[in-house]
Amino acid sequence: MLSRNLQRCTRLFSSTNKAMSSTGLDLDFTPDQIEFRNNIRKFVAEEITPVAAEYDKSMEYPWPILKKAHSLGYLTADIPEEYGGLGIDMVTNCIMSEEIAYGCSAIGTALMANDLALSPLILAANDDIKKRFLGRMIDNPFVASFAVTEPGAGSDVAGVKTKCEKKGDEYIINGSKMWITNAGHANWFFVLARSDPDPKVSSGKAFTAFVVEGDSPGLTRGRKEINMGQRCSDTRGITFEDVRVPASNVVGAPGEGFKVAMRTFDKTRPTVAAMATGLAYRCLDVATQYSLERKAFGTKIANHQGVSFLLADMAVNAELSKLMTYKSAYEADAGRPGSYYASLAKLFASDAVNSAATNAVQVFGGAGFNTEYPAEKLMRDAKIFQIYEGTSQVQRMVVARQLLARVAQNNGY
Ligand SMILES: Cc1cc2nc3c(=O)[nH]c(=O)nc-3n(C[C@H](O)[C@H](O)[C@H](O)COP(=O)(O)OP(=O)(O)OC[C@H]3O[C@@H](n4cnc5c(N)ncnc54)[C@H](O)[C@@H]3O)c2cc1C
Repeated sequence: MLSRNLQRCTRLFSSTNKAMSSTGLDLDFTPDQIEFRNNIRKFVAEEITPVAAEYDKSMEYPWPILKKAHSLGYLTADIPEEYGGLGIDMVTNCIMSEEIAYGCSAIGTALMANDLALSPLILAANDDIKKRFLGRMIDNPFVASFAVTEPGAGSDVAGVKTKCEKKGDEYIINGSKMWITNAGHANWFFVLARSDPDPKVSSGKAFTAFVVEGDSPGLTRGRKEINMGQRCSDTRGITFEDVRVPASNVVGAPGEGFKVAMRTFDKTRPTVAAMATGLAYRCLDVATQYSLERKAFGTKIANHQGVSFLLADMAVNAELSKLMTYKSAYEADAGRPGSYYASLAKLFASDAVNSAATNAVQVFGGAGFNTEYPAEKLMRDAKIFQIYEGTSQVQRMVVARQLLARVAQNNGY
């Protein structure tokens, strides 16, 4: 059997050799990033991979793993150092996301959805909110939720109907949210609500974003949804009935919540692409191993070109996902954040991981369809990447809009 380490060390970005830098294109991680990756890879191999199938069956929220991740700083790694976190850059955040999803993308979603909630605060909140809400995440193994989607508004974020009304020093929030990850366990919620009821007011001015305490009177958490895959991740609806939130909990300026939410996606889509990439490599690795163990027609199935070409296709797409993911992270770290590369990476990696998972099931044959073997879980887990944090159709809309705008402005790509 091929050792997993042997296979994984053939991946790009794994070398410490800096030979390429003289060409002006450097695809190496820094020594610090390599050390970080090695540490998290060890954590994943010891704490996540061995229990992933069990969590899938039990659908229990992976608190023991999240607590361990918190103690090692991974749960809050994105929080700037001045607020107690590791202050990791986007490339390092993608390394973490990729490695964790290699072990289990469901546990990865529980972890990274927490980062999705932290991100708008890191990007747009004032110092007081950062100290109060990011600080407590450092001191305690808490998780938070990003609550934007509603029963009637997912892709169309501007269709959000949850409303907020200012009364004195408070806002009163009414409405409901749907499909909110970590909602059953969140200590606090990032919430987007419509603050200007006038439908003629543009999205950029009509919404306000808040941090809402999880124990606020009037906030009710729904039942855990039973999803196709990523089953230990916690997804729920939430309702707000006259929930009072102090005006000091507004994230960014009042009326600018839509922009805060959109800027958040620019930051988090590369990490979602990284998770899809990690899962694609897992699909490739389990399929490759199986193809070297299973025999048909008197030989290992890997020796049949029809099988080895499936593996080759998976390898091509996994490498492309990786390149696009880290390119999008690199763009953000270089101070050129934006939707274009983030959406390109999220779109490609999400489609690629679904193809990889389907191919992995195919390589396993009948065993691929069975819950005693690893491939079917990977296929169920893969699907959500084409849906959450903007569907693949939405990513295509973002890419096409920006592409056309750039060409119209004659700026090239
Ligand atoms: C497991 C899970 C976890 C999630 N976690 C969170 C979370 O933590 N926080 C949060 O806020 N949300 C979360 N979501 C919500 C997720 O982001 C939305 O489900 C997603 O954005 C799609 O919205 P929708 O479900 O309303 O689908 P719809 O918007 O109703 O779309 C339905 C279909 O129509 C397509 N479509 C819609 N509009 C267009 C268009 N203009 N052009 C072409 N096609 C279009 C879509 O691509 C899709 O295929 C989660 C969802 C799931 C399933």
